[in-house]
Amino acid sequence: MCCDGTLFHSVVLQPNDSATSLSSLGLILKRKKGALSFRQPCPAHQNSQCGIYENRPHRCRLFQCQQLLQVSSGTLSQTQALETIRSTREKIKQVDQLIGKITETNPSHGLSQRVATALATTPTTPLHSDLTLAMDELNQTLNQQFRVPEQSS
Ligand code: SF4
Repeated sequence: MCCDGTLFHSVVLQPNDSATSLSSLGLILKRKKGALSFRQPCPAHQNSQCGIYENRPHRCRLFQCQQLLQVSSGTLSQTQALETIRSTREKIKQVDQLIGKITETNPSHGLSQRVATALATTPTTPLHSDLTLAMDELNQTLNQQFRVPEQSS
């Protein structure tokens, strides 16, 4: 979720990242307001794994979602975390299916952007309301269970 465009729309490079080597590994870097970043879904994300794990950017090394933090600190069991991940993946699937029922979207765009594209289509149908509700519910879960504000990018 932190690499496939669900949690974040982009990752900002840090001073100790090598733009040249990350570009050569397939990350498409863009400069915005002086900072280099790459968009999500990350091109290095393959089969739920990082294809450049040993050379991943600094921010990726530092990021730990709330589930991981809580399991590491012993306040949450792995089983509970896995269940939260499973149920959240179900919510993502529902959002994805609703998008697909409304319109085709660009799979290289993050989830929020694809939802926005679907909601902008006309005419508005009951599916639009269903999608708005499903995305609101998903965002609530992502904020409460996964995102860590100071680590957001
Ligand atoms: S470089 Fe690896 S860890 Fe970082 S966003 Fe891409 S797939 Fe995820």
